[in-house]
Amino acid sequence: MNEKSASPERTKIALRIAVIGGGIGGLTAALSLRQAGFTVDVYEQAPELTQIGGGINMGPNAVRILRRLGLAAGLDREGVRPLSTHQRRWQDGRTLQRAPLNPLCEELYGAPHITIHRADLLDVIASGFPAENIHLGHRLTGLEDTGEGIEAWFENGARITADILVGADGINSAVRAALFGEEASVFAGCVAYRGLVPVERITDLALETGNQSWVGPGAHLVHYPVSRGRLLNFVGWTEHDEWNREDWTDRATVARALAAFEGWHPQVRRIISAADTCFIWALFDRDPLLRWSLGRTTLLGDACHPMYPFMGQGAAQAIEDGAALAGCLVTRLQDMSRANKTRFHMRDGPAQEARDAEWARAADRSPDALRWLYDYDPAQIDAVAA
Ligand SMILES: Cc1cc2nc3c(=O)[nH]c(=O)nc-3n(C[C@H](O)[C@H](O)[C@H](O)COP(=O)(O)OP(=O)(O)OC[C@H]3O[C@@H](n4cnc5c(N)ncnc54)[C@H](O)[C@@H]3O)c2cc1C
Repeated sequence: MNEKSASPERTKIALRIAVIGGGIGGLTAALSLRQAGFTVDVYEQAPELTQIGGGINMGPNAVRILRRLGLAAGLDREGVRPLSTHQRRWQDGRTLQRAPLNPLCEELYGAPHITIHRADLLDVIASGFPAENIHLGHRLTGLEDTGEGIEAWFENGARITADILVGADGINSAVRAALFGEEASVFAGCVAYRGLVPVERITDLALETGNQSWVGPGAHLVHYPVSRGRLLNFVGWTEHDEWNREDWTDRATVARALAAFEGWHPQVRRIISAADTCFIWALFDRDPLLRWSLGRTTLLGDACHPMYPFMGQGAAQAIEDGAALAGCLVTRLQDMSRANKTRFHMRDGPAQEARDAEWARAADRSPDALRWLYDYDPAQIDAVAA
């Protein structure tokens, strides 16, 4: 927990928020909300913060948000900036399209496009949030909105109360089930073979630092560098009629992955065969929800809008949700305005002196301290929606 927040210390807001799920979406939301002045605790079922799986593409829309949260140094350290995105034909390798990514994204959108190992990304996000407010080994099993607050309970016997509860607990969200009822996710007819290859094993391919995707009949394969460029991540998607396991870490053999990409371009097969091991993962889906919030509880990320990873935007949208949620909690202004009635009208005495000293120290009316308020531009949201 060493990443320094870029935001100034904020006035504390008397609302306790419980975030269920310490994945990319949950931790980003927790960090955004904390920086907006809320008291936030994260409850994660796993005994440690972990993201199984290899790499992830982070478009500039997500990187921009993470940078604003003070995470630029960590992203620069761990992320790779691909020079281009290149789509090729499965068999002959012909270029179908190719476009520059960096530094163009920075020029166009104020942030780079990066590729990064999931575990590194999660570490970077977690580094901005106090470890003591992340409660590991807490698997949510139920919740109740009492009207006064939210009560939630966990498999380990713990019970908590909060003013607001955020369900960031992924595609099989227990919070979602508690709000809107149980409904099984549906197999989407695709499985992925994924692996990580040390780049020194494939120097003969002379790969540019970039994102390449190969498209072919009933399948496609994507590869890009992660782990500061030391590893090449690949994910090869193939269509299947049925699947009876749902586990990101199910092992497959390299031979099985090669068989799935039989007849594909030598570069594709060379990359797969350079892996020590391969994992297999099935894609699941859900219909869109009509609403994401009920009373004091809201959902974000895969808990409310899981999407196919074929735009590389699932995690990015979870990151956007977290930032938007902090921006939406405008009751902060109501709280602060109400508190100011008392603070502005104090009789002379110790409380007034403490207030004067606090103002002399923190200047909470300065434009800099009010950046969270003055920076917000709803026109930007309208432009995107249009
Ligand atoms: C192969 C593949 C490639 C992808 N590539 C990209 C990409 O390039 N770019 C991109 O933006 N997206 C990508 N995605 C999508 C992305 O991974 C997801 O959209 C993203 O991880 C969702 O984040 P989340 O925080 O909402 O959920 P999750 O990452 O699923 O996190 C949920 C967390 O909640 C915890 N949890 C679950 N239940 C409970 C409970 N009852 N109590 C407490 N904690 C609980 C879990 O342990 C987990 O830590 C890809 C997905 C796949 C499968």
